[in-house]
Formats: sequence, C-alpha cells, structure tokens
Amino acid sequence: MAKRIFITGFWHETNTFAQSPTGMDDFHAYQYAEGDALFAAFADTNTEIGGVMNAALELDLNLVPGLFAGAVPSGMITAEAYEFIRARTAELLEAAGEVDGVLVHLHGAAVAEGAAEADADFLAAIRQKLPLTPIVATFDLHANLSEGLLAGADALVGYNTYPHNDMGARGREAAHILHRMLWSAKRPKKVFRKLPFAPPPQVQGTNADPVAGIMARLAEAKDWGGIWAASIAWGFPYADVEHLGVGILVQGDDFQHCSRIADDLALTIWRQRGDFDAGLIDAEDAVRTAIEAPSGPIILVDVADNAGGGSPGDGTTILAELLDQSASGAVIVLCDPGAVRTAKALGPGALFSGSVGGKSDDLHGPPVPLVGEIVFQQPVQYQRRGDYMTGQMIDLGEVAVVRAGGVTVMLTQYKAMPFDADHLAAAGIAAEAQQIIVVKSAIAWQAHFRAFAKGEIYVDTPGVCASNLKRFTYGKLSRDIFPIADDGVWPAK
Ligand SMILES: [Zn+2]
Repeated sequence: MAKRIFITGFWHETNTFAQSPTGMDDFHAYQYAEGDALFAAFADTNTEIGGVMNAALELDLNLVPGLFAGAVPSGMITAEAYEFIRARTAELLEAAGEVDGVLVHLHGAAVAEGAAEADADFLAAIRQKLPLTPIVATFDLHANLSEGLLAGADALVGYNTYPHNDMGARGREAAHILHRMLWSAKRPKKVFRKLPFAPPPQVQGTNADPVAGIMARLAEAKDWGGIWAASIAWGFPYADVEHLGVGILVQGDDFQHCSRIADDLALTIWRQRGDFDAGLIDAEDAVRTAIEAPSGPIILVDVADNAGGGSPGDGTTILAELLDQSASGAVIVLCDPGAVRTAKALGPGALFSGSVGGKSDDLHGPPVPLVGEIVFQQPVQYQRRGDYMTGQMIDLGEVAVVRAGGVTVMLTQYKAMPFDADHLAAAGIAAEAQQIIVVKSAIAWQAHFRAFAKGEIYVDTPGVCASNLKRFTYGKLSRDIFPIADDGVWPAK
C-alpha cells in the first residue's frame, strides 16, 4: 500500500532591519493554500511542492496536504501570523490521521516575534507530534542554518542555485530521501559546520566564482558515494540573529566521511572569504556610464533596495540621478500605492505631477518630484514565464506608467520582483529596447536580463539590503563575523 506522506510548508526570508512587519495578510497576498488547494496551486510549477508531486507519482507516495504559507521577504513576522501558521499546521496534521513520513518546505531564514529561529520552532512543533516518523525538510540557499533547525528533521536538502531555479529538483530529491528512509529504515548521519562569515547576497551567485567553484566542489563530494545529501546555505545577512552566517550540512552513512567533506568545504570557503567583493559604483558615475554606453540595455542594480530581499522597492537614489542627468530610454519600477492612486484618479493620457517613492521609510532616499504623461494605467496580473519561479501567478495590483522625458517610471501597488521582464511587458514596456533598466534585486534579475543586457553596474545605494554590511548594527551576534567585523573568529564553532 502506498505510504502516506504529510506535506506542508512555511516560507519567509525575514529582513529584521526592514520596518514593515509581515502579517497574515502578507501571506495571503503572496502564497497561502491548504488542503487540496495546495496541489491545485503547485501542480506543474518549479517549486518544492511541484517537485514532490512529480516524485510522488514515480515513488507511489500518497501525499496528504497540510498547508503552504509564503510571504514576500519583508520585516519581522508578527507573533499572531506565526502562531496561526504553526497552530493551523498542527490541526491539519491531526486531521491527517496516521502518516508514514513528513515533508516540510522551509526557507531557513524566518524570524518571528518571539521566535528568532522560527523555522526550527516550526519543525520542532511537528517533531513533537511525530517523534519517530521520518521528516525531511528543504531550505533556501539563503538559510541561516542552526543546530536547532537540524534537530527537527532526519534529513535536510537545500537549494544549490542562486538565482534559484532548482526548487522542483530539491523537492523531488527530498521525496526520494524520505522514500529511502521508509524502505531502508535507515537515517543519515548529519555533520554541520557554521562559519563566522556572512557574505551579502550580491556575491552569492552560483554562476560566478567564488561560489560557482565551491558549489562544483560540493557537487563532486556528493558523488563520492555514501552521501545522502549535502548543501551549503550561504545565509541571509539582513537578519540580526545569533545563528547568522554560512552553514555547511553533509549527510551520509559514515560520520567520519561526512566530517572530512564538511571540513574541506569549510576551509575552502574560509580561505576565499576575501574574494567575495561587492565592487559597488556610486549612483552618479553609474548613471553617467550607462547613458554613455554605445548600446543598451545597461542594467543598474539597486541591490540595497532588493524588493525580493525585504526592501520596500521604493528607493529613489537612482531615479533622482536618471532625472538629473536627463537619461533617455531608462526604466525604473517603484512600489508606491499612493502615487498609483493619484494616477488612477487622473487616468491614462493625463499629466502626472507628484512625488514618487521614498515613502515607506527614511532608509531608501527621499520622495522624488515627478512630472510626466500617464501612458498606462490598469491593474496588472501575470504568470511568470521565465525559468525562475515558473508558472507563479503575480498580482501587482493597480499599476501606472509615467513618462518623464526619457525616463519611464512604472508605479505599482504591490512590490514587483524582477525575476524576469514579464512585469514590464504586462505594462507595455519592451525591456530589450531600453538603454537603461534599473532592477531592485541582488542576483535574481540575472536569470532573465543577462541574456540580452549589454552591461551591468552594481550601484552603491542606501537601503536595508545594502551590500556593505558595515552599514547595519547587529546586536545579537555572539562572535565576530566577516565582513560585518574586519574578520571572523576561526575556527568555526
Ligand atoms: Zn533565497
């Protein structure tokens, strides 16, 4: 008889420096599904649950749905929202009756009020109900792994890519590991190393060195035999938590063998820490260089206002420069519900005159005066077509596009994450025809835009995802971590 597997998920990358808290509304606005709706939401998507669903067919597993609650990366999760998700999961688990195994899809960098290690706490709540049942969890490449998290699952599988495009593959892998536990009755040994190192996401891309080379070494080690799963979680540095930083997790049959691999990877990363260089250019020089480039588009990366990393997506530093230097063929997207309302009241074709951006906090530049024609105004929803989060439905709410000279400003009600150019296309903007495209992203933008961009510049802007970690004040670290401190304390503990 097919084994019954309870599948559930809780996914949030919490930026504790971001000012807006994350409540239940934010989970409902992004991804919330339970019961059979879970399968409807994720069938044929490149997500962990989509991958598990495919594996369940191959392995003849009977999936019993819990819930999946995911919110766009943002500030601390409210105690109320976290408590709801945890309690509702427990109810669904109760209602599921007897199960043979559990798959849990986590981010690994969730922080809730009252639960600094929310992922570990979530997993522990499931473990408490099922002390002997095999549990396999997945986590994001940006997880801040901790001993507490590892204690809650028999095996854990992390993404290997950033930009992330292996969620489906990792879900499938997790299901296979669980299946292996069920038929072999074995569990892997876990070896964990935590480094006093927290590189900013901008330098964590897996397609470029130093990370590409290190991930290749990880992949090689996995092939040596006796290894069930091995991952490097590069950490999410915009979280003031004790368990911040890079974590290495190797799981296999033999403890010594796993230890050798983990130690080799730890030392390899530690020796290369100086190569994780953000290389930022100030906004004035960046815009001038992009204007003067013989052909475009040139991508100006506003990494500090990374909309997918917890920033508000309304940072104005680059917009102010584009207007000052009268750029032409430039496009920027700002989340500004107030300005969108103003534009909606005026209607398409009218002249917009108001201040845009810089309203959600005082960390991402001041509001910037904007005068121009409203060339587009309507609600925008679309489905992602690129290979990043493929198939995901996105709702930007009301959208207005204002053209001020050569600068096109797309104003959205909800944050747009530039994993592809579908949001621009949905508002009638042809990305490939631009000279300058501003992306509010660290690495995720590369998956799509690099294919046709003629250049890219990482811009030194202020914000809660700034690549210069020395801009932030950390109060919860118990030891020096590089590059927040001038160096980290080695050996890792
Ligand atoms: Zn991530």
